[in-house]
Amino acid sequence: MTDIKELLLSRIRDVADYPEPGVMFKDITPLLADPAAFTALTDALAEIAENAGATKIVGLEARGFILGAPVAVRAGLGFIPVRKAGKLPGATLGQAYDLEYGSAEIEVHAEDLVTGDRVLIVDDVLATGGTAEASVQLIRRAGAEVAGLAVLMELGFLGGRTRLEPALSGAPLEAL
Ligand code: AMP
Repeated sequence: MTDIKELLLSRIRDVADYPEPGVMFKDITPLLADPAAFTALTDALAEIAENAGATKIVGLEARGFILGAPVAVRAGLGFIPVRKAGKLPGATLGQAYDLEYGSAEIEVHAEDLVTGDRVLIVDDVLATGGTAEASVQLIRRAGAEVAGLAVLMELGFLGGRTRLEPALSGAPLEAL
């Protein structure tokens, strides 16, 4: 294992049965509290953004905001929040998606993404891939291109990568 992987893994706390029984929650707050780990993560994600030729960073609410914003600053790119429905004050584009029980919707300010933008999506955890898949659809509907998806970690047993690869149509999915 590379040094950065070891460092990042050592700063992720597993919390059993949170927020409900049967879920192993991946808590990144120890990583955020460690400047060496947070800087290493930011640098690695910014390198992915540069290699992907991204022109904007989209962060997924809420931990994608914490990770994506410093990446945007480091890479010299704009940061666009994709939020849960009803949180953005301006004109929005929305995308609904299915959850295990029920459905959810995410939104982006319509004016924040335009044709010609190449967007790197950033989040902490790729689980089933439902949120990321909806964000890919949202970004494309706004007229922008998806340059890739970068996450701190993927929970491989939930099949998010298999679900997302067709939606990404060749754009890279990087899990640190
Ligand atoms: P999904 O749409 O199933 O890929 O879920 C992804 C979103 O849920 C991400 O924004 C994660 O922050 C969060 N998430 C899902 N599973 C976990 C987990 N085990 N630990 C921490 N966050 C999770």
